Amino acid sequence: MLSIKNLHASINGKEILKGINLEIKPGEVHAIMGPNGAGKSTLASVLAGRELFEVTEGEVIFEQKDLLDLSPEDRAKEGIFLGFQYPIEIPGVSTVNFMKTAVNEHRKYKGLEPLKASDFLKLMRDKKALVEIDSNLTNRSVNEGFSGGEKKKNEIFQMAMLEPKLAVLDETDSGLDIDALRIVANGVNKLKTAENSTIVITHYQRLLDYIVPDVVHVLFDGRIVKTAGKELALELEEKGYDWIKEELVK
Ligand code: ADP
Ligand code: MG
Ligand code: MG
Repeated sequence: MLSIKNLHASINGKEILKGINLEIKPGEVHAIMGPNGAGKSTLASVLAGRELFEVTEGEVIFEQKDLLDLSPEDRAKEGIFLGFQYPIEIPGVSTVNFMKTAVNEHRKYKGLEPLKASDFLKLMRDKKALVEIDSNLTNRSVNEGFSGGEKKKNEIFQMAMLEPKLAVLDETDSGLDIDALRIVANGVNKLKTAENSTIVITHYQRLLDYIVPDVVHVLFDGRIVKTAGKELALELEEKGYDWIKEELVK
């Protein structure tokens, strides 16, 4: 599904990603962990196509397509969901209307007709029940005045509505309380199928008590320096990241 080969990326001429290699198959959940400043969010931004970051080498193939050739909008329509894609507040636009536009734009890209109003409302109802979001949130303006937990809920709801093939969730180090962790985890677990994949980027081992990853990677200084099963997350919880640095020096 996703194949990243020797990816190098810079910001203002400073190299942050120094040769990332990553293969993700359908149905897999991968966790990317690592200390602050390792380049985790940069990797998510590069996958999202943020202009700030310049890819200097390597390739990213998503379902046989060269992802780096696509605009951020087309990446989304191809089925990539970035967790921080819509955290912006949009006063005056209800989540209902916002999602109607997004869902129908995705459909148009695939050559499908817009959903009938009744079908859209049914889809909304089903997905709201799935991620346990209440009506108040979807009737309010997108993210306006939402608490951190409500924004997370909304993000997972957007993901449920768009049914991405690949979700990349960058759970920033701060601001995730235990409720938000649970919201993210429940959403990821419920939306998991044999066809779709998730990359969970986290500094916290705690999130992985709720989401059981198939593969855990450690990103350190712009490179993936260790890849293993879910037991690696537990080892990191116990020992921190220093032992990995020491292993690298050897
Ligand atoms: P992580 O998410 O693993 O904590 P980041 O990807 O946010 O790490 O950051 C990796 C490195 O890139 C850090 O040294 C950080 O200072 C730098 N960096 C990230 N964003 C910017 C930016 N907008 N301008 C300059 N440097 C940046
Ligand atoms: Mg950070
Ligand atoms: Mg980060």
